[in-house]
Amino acid sequence: MLDFARAGAAVGATPATLEKTRILGAYFRRLGEDDLRRAAVYMSGRAFPPSRRRTLGLGWSTLSKVVSSVSRRDEAELGQIFRKHSDLGDWAGEALDGRTQPEVVTLQEVEVTLDAIRTARGTAKAAPLESMLRRLDPEAARFFIKIISGEMRIGLSEGLVEAAIAEAFGAPITQVKRVHLVTGDIGETAVRCKRGEFEASTITLFQPVRFMLASPVETPGEAFERMAAGTVWTEEKYDGVRCQLHRQASRVELFSRDLKETTGAFPELTEAAPSIGHDVLFDGEVLAHRDGRVLRFFELQRRLGRKQVDAVLRRDVPVVLVIFDVLWLDGRTLLDEPLTTRRKLLEGLGLEHPFLLARLEEATDPQHLDRIFAETRERGNEGLMVKDPISPYTPGRRGLAWLKLKRPLATLDVVVTAVEWGHGKRKGVLSDYTFAVKDTRTGRLVNVGKAYTGLTDAEIATFTERFLAMTVEDMGHVRMVRPEVVLEVAFDSIQHSGRHLSGFALRFPRIVRIRDDKPVDEIDTLERVAGLYDRYFGEKSEVPLSEVAET
Ligand code: AMP
Repeated sequence: MLDFARAGAAVGATPATLEKTRILGAYFRRLGEDDLRRAAVYMSGRAFPPSRRRTLGLGWSTLSKVVSSVSRRDEAELGQIFRKHSDLGDWAGEALDGRTQPEVVTLQEVEVTLDAIRTARGTAKAAPLESMLRRLDPEAARFFIKIISGEMRIGLSEGLVEAAIAEAFGAPITQVKRVHLVTGDIGETAVRCKRGEFEASTITLFQPVRFMLASPVETPGEAFERMAAGTVWTEEKYDGVRCQLHRQASRVELFSRDLKETTGAFPELTEAAPSIGHDVLFDGEVLAHRDGRVLRFFELQRRLGRKQVDAVLRRDVPVVLVIFDVLWLDGRTLLDEPLTTRRKLLEGLGLEHPFLLARLEEATDPQHLDRIFAETRERGNEGLMVKDPISPYTPGRRGLAWLKLKRPLATLDVVVTAVEWGHGKRKGVLSDYTFAVKDTRTGRLVNVGKAYTGLTDAEIATFTERFLAMTVEDMGHVRMVRPEVVLEVAFDSIQHSGRHLSGFALRFPRIVRIRDDKPVDEIDTLERVAGLYDRYFGEKSEVPLSEVAET
């Protein structure tokens, strides 16, 4: 640990990035694999590798009590030292100087201690922390606390740690970055580079791989242009959460888009995966699904972020995994295989519920793609993924091999009925607009939402003048205005709401256009809002499973 601290201190002492890289590279080169893995993670300011959903759960009060007990200094004295540094590590280093009985402490012992702190509950976290601090040299304690606080503050970015790995093992930085993209773990990256495994294309099961991402396009024509392929593949853009499934015999682990382990949240998948009959790494989307229908995202939300799921929630919001890629199969890494091969392998697995295959269609020209897109939207899906059939799987990249084609399901023409003064940057201008549609049964205007995004500062300034002149009632923060300004708004969904007289509220409305060309008489009606709700967002609008995926 003292070696680690000295290397860290030397890195912190020089402002020159090349020098930092050289010092850290020399330190990494001296380490065996296990310590290298630990040191690379700790130098990045992390107590645990990012893929493990682990946090220390150690608060300031426990930390200051322990430092006070080891250093035999009271709160006032500790506070005075802290104000000098404003950095927990530097504070602990000075407070403990001459107050510990330093011994040789290995990085392995540091790892064991961090784990003991993590697993202990409440005040029991103090004991392992205290016994470690008593054995540390003050410089080592300074860095131990930096690891705990999650901040090195020695001018070391993750990019510099990558550069140091490249320097240590004579690897080109581009290859180190590529290994890091695949593994998503700086410790694992360092070890692979030490072994000379620069060929990043090998996957280690249960080590999450960064997800391939898609670039947005506006139109089918643009999709064809950017992809420069004769034929493209399309898949539904499922509205769930991204999920990577690793399965080897009875061991199963799931990872989320940010490479956090989420195994506990979806027991249906972990229980069913052993029956797949092959060792696999799948990429897909978890959807909430009940009685043969995909449920809306807000239902799935109830399942997210849970370590355990009770029987009631499992019954109310069961999940499936719609799979669109396989990255590893029975020991074979498939990243560099074309999508066509990966898909064929997927189709050959004979997957069964709760594992489904993404619905795939081929498009040969923009008109064809437009038709598929229109059909997707008819089914109530907002978007379509467009994929190059010969592309490899490129972890962590937002390239042109995957595109997402998204358009709002519909827009509404509405009239502004009330305006509000903005906050922060928008202080002093009327920037929040409540808007309404027409209820044709009563002839009245009924509010359906409030928008604050989509206009430029100049447009808001002009609107402020206009609305001031149109005010019929000044209620301080809010002003009722003559209903004359027509806006076209886009939105994510429609919900039932008691807040507005209309009974509906648009979610995330944004202004797409000012429709000065449109008379108020011609704005959209409450019937249209209710119709859109029934069709796309209501209980009955759930998409039949057979429509979105085939097994
Ligand atoms: P966005 O979140 O708008 O960047 O869109 C990309 C996300 O769409 C991915 O991260 C996936 O979670 C999701 N997605 C839904 N369906 C698919 C699909 N068929 N292929 C790839 N990604 C998909």
